[in-house]
Amino acid sequence: MELTLVHLYPDLLNIYGDQGNVAALNYRCAQRGIKLKLKNLGAGEVLVAGSFDLIFGGGGQDSQQASVSRYLPGQSAVLKQAARRGVPMLTICGSYQLFGRYFKPFTGPMLKGIGIFPAYTVASKTRKIGNIVITTSLGKLVGFENHSGNTFLDQPGLALGRVMAGNGNNGTDQTEGCRVNNVFGCYLHGSLLPKNPPLADYLITTALELKYRRQINLRPLDDRLEWQAHQTAVKICLKSGWRNW
Ligand code: GLN
Repeated sequence: MELTLVHLYPDLLNIYGDQGNVAALNYRCAQRGIKLKLKNLGAGEVLVAGSFDLIFGGGGQDSQQASVSRYLPGQSAVLKQAARRGVPMLTICGSYQLFGRYFKPFTGPMLKGIGIFPAYTVASKTRKIGNIVITTSLGKLVGFENHSGNTFLDQPGLALGRVMAGNGNNGTDQTEGCRVNNVFGCYLHGSLLPKNPPLADYLITTALELKYRRQINLRPLDDRLEWQAHQTAVKICLKSGWRNW
């Protein structure tokens, strides 16, 4: 079996190890004999409907997001159609914000998003930086956040998870991230997927089931190291008492 992953604007949105998410998906596919073809979507390039099985977008500085916001809306129809079909997508921080309705940076004009997430983001004076642990329907997720943006969801029930320690979407409503169908957005850098195997395998399984129209049970991998990293990060984060809710 094979899958095609499109990495959105990797030259512009790719900070705090976000590339590691692509490496983790590639590794977890290769270990199971699944070929993962990687396509980068560069500035000005057109995303072709039906040409991908997975989408990944990373984080970036406000200025890089300003560049991306000139191109991303042009891909909105294809991305929304894929989202409705259930195509799995993972967007981290800067791209998460641009998958909402808009991101208002601290200086400069509002950046139009594509509105897959019923949410908006406004930059704030305080950066939210540190380890973060959230509980989700896929279990605990652990990562590292670094954002000035405060994201507000139209309904709290759309959140990807509830913050156990850290700030999350805005440091006030205990929500973190957003999930619509199989489109995931969150502030968890780190990178996220290597330390959170269930989410990585969920994305792979969902993409395969959609493409091959049958139930897929991925062979379990030897994830001892991944789980050691996960549990250590969770322990450190919860022990630090940083914004434990
Ligand atoms: N520039 C955005 C913010 O500061 C996103 C940052 C990021 O992608 N880490 O909120």
